Amino acid sequence: MMILTKKMIEIRNILSKVGQSSTLTLPSIVVIGSQSSGKSSVLEAIVGHEFLPKGSNMVTRRPIELTLVNTPESKAEYGEFPDLGLRKITDFTSIQRTLTELNMAVPDTECVSDDPIHLTIYSPHVPDLSLIDLPGYIQVVGQNQPLELKQKITELCDKYIQPPNVILAISAADVDLANSTALRASRRVDPRGERTIGVVTKMDLVDAPRGAAILNDKQYPLRLGYVGVVSKAPTTSSLFKKDTGNLMAAISKNENAFFSSHPVEFGTDAGVAVGTTTLRKKLMHVLEQTMSASLQSTSDAIQQELEEATYEFKVQYNDRPLSAESYLAESLDAFKHSFKQFAEEFGRPQMLQLLKNELDQRVLDLLAQRYWNKPINDLSPATPEPDSLADLPKADPESLYWHRQLDASTSQLTKLGVGRLATTVVANTIQSHIDRLIAQSTFASHPFARQAITEAASSILNDRYYSTSDQVENCIKPFKFDIDLEEREWNAGRENVANVLKNELAACQNATKHLEDAVGGKRKLKEVVTFIDRVRKGDTVIEGEGRSGAGGFSAALLQKGREAVFLRDRADIINMRLLAVRSRQCKSMTNKYYCPEVFLDAVASKLAATSVLFLNVELLSEFVYNFPRELDQRLGRHLSDEQMERFAKEDPKIRKHLEVIRRKELLELVLDKMQSLRQLEGREKASQRGA
Ligand code: GDP
Repeated sequence: MMILTKKMIEIRNILSKVGQSSTLTLPSIVVIGSQSSGKSSVLEAIVGHEFLPKGSNMVTRRPIELTLVNTPESKAEYGEFPDLGLRKITDFTSIQRTLTELNMAVPDTECVSDDPIHLTIYSPHVPDLSLIDLPGYIQVVGQNQPLELKQKITELCDKYIQPPNVILAISAADVDLANSTALRASRRVDPRGERTIGVVTKMDLVDAPRGAAILNDKQYPLRLGYVGVVSKAPTTSSLFKKDTGNLMAAISKNENAFFSSHPVEFGTDAGVAVGTTTLRKKLMHVLEQTMSASLQSTSDAIQQELEEATYEFKVQYNDRPLSAESYLAESLDAFKHSFKQFAEEFGRPQMLQLLKNELDQRVLDLLAQRYWNKPINDLSPATPEPDSLADLPKADPESLYWHRQLDASTSQLTKLGVGRLATTVVANTIQSHIDRLIAQSTFASHPFARQAITEAASSILNDRYYSTSDQVENCIKPFKFDIDLEEREWNAGRENVANVLKNELAACQNATKHLEDAVGGKRKLKEVVTFIDRVRKGDTVIEGEGRSGAGGFSAALLQKGREAVFLRDRADIINMRLLAVRSRQCKSMTNKYYCPEVFLDAVASKLAATSVLFLNVELLSEFVYNFPRELDQRLGRHLSDEQMERFAKEDPKIRKHLEVIRRKELLELVLDKMQSLRQLEGREKASQRGA
């Protein structure tokens, strides 16, 4: 008999994990009663330990779903909070403390919550039972308590006292049964009194004949009857309470003494049920009966639910099996594969291009700074200065001035920190390629994995950063002293820089177009530019240009105008230099002082080529080797099951897929257990008939 209930409780627990509809549940015993009716005392008498929160300030605020597990082979008594991962708590004071904290975590303003606390107690002294303790009904709403509290408690209790649950309605003997809130509530949902057990507490507080009369009550008949108890331990038992195991003995001794001192009213012939032991047996019996009665309907409901899950799995997911682990492994493989492809496509030529583009920009900056400079940032008349560009084609190869210009430019280029620049450019590019790979992978919808991958990449890149940039800087060191160009290099430089200049020209034109759009047209911009030109030539003088602008133009417009003038001048220069670079003069390396653009471009190419050799060894190859390993470290199989689960469920589609599978598995498991249970039940019935 015991085995049946135990197994059914097990099934009940699995079902609670399937969640969802209320039909998928096996009955439990729901304990209701008004505050101070002695509800906690009854529960503690059944368990044999003081473990429920105590105090006057609404200490039970959440349902406590209490599972009692009888462990006949073991002496140990302990509790577990499965939701909190708290296992084997042997100290019942500690259980009480945890329960108090969990209840008090519900703020005063809400006072009750319908989020249940799950507690399982294992002991050789408890029967297999599944009980739910609910907040006690209150008569008056206290200070600091929400006005609708009474209502909230009633609603919470109503939710639990629905069929097929058994109601344990607690009433105190010293209160008229007609006034018992518990009985009134139970009558609303169980008008014929078919699944309510009446418990009358504090039998010691009324005289025996009156007590017996209450238990024989015919006014509120209950099919499962009333049981009278005295569940208060004798006051001297504070000693026993500490010695927890004896609470049960103490109570029952006290209770027995009371009932046996009134044999006429409570004796075996009196026809009333009294005592906690009687109550315990009744609970076991009723729960088993009820569970067994709902076995069929529950298993039908499960069968139906299972069919639905199976159908969903077939239709939506094509019966495709999936586990968090396999999903992660497949995603990781696919990602590593895409990385491998990237690694094959990204090598020395690509790095060279990147680096060269970066250095081209630096060369342009240098040229602008040393050769192309013109005063453009003020509105004052142009100061006369040697027009270096106009002079450039005539630059005397012996002239110290042009030597110094080119030497200084070259030195600035070689010393600009190529090591760091090159490493940064390549590292950033790798990182952004990884970001792109992530965005294109299944990991895109997984913040956890995305972060892990990004960190994997940046940790390797950061690790290599300093040594790589030092290495690169070291190998370009010779160029800081001496640059030896070959004809071929010169020619390549000439060709390349022409393209760079052309692109720069296009960029200038583009920027000018933007300015035109910004000021409202070509004409408008031209007007401002003309004005600025006149000022620069000294044709017009303006008195201290203020915030409001000058010459009828706003300050903002003038600023745009200045930018346009700068762009125009820059374009003029570039055009001129483009002609020079293409001219016969720049064909030969001997004319390098005429053609600093070509020379600097050739130097930049040398720097880039040398840097790339070392970037390849120190950074890229290291990265390609280590990155997949680092991924395995962070996302590989040694993630815990929970981590994998959490990861997979980040994607709502996968989450749903996994949940369908899990539900299906749980339902199958439950159904299986139920079938064997019914066989067991059948055998028991047969053997009872035989006996
Ligand atoms: P709850 O608020 O319904 O949980 O009630 P408690 O179990 O905390 O009991 C309320 C008060 O009634 C406490 O002071 C108990 O000691 C007392 N009490 C509980 N059961 C009995 C009993 O059978 N006899 C007597 N005399 N007092 C009891």
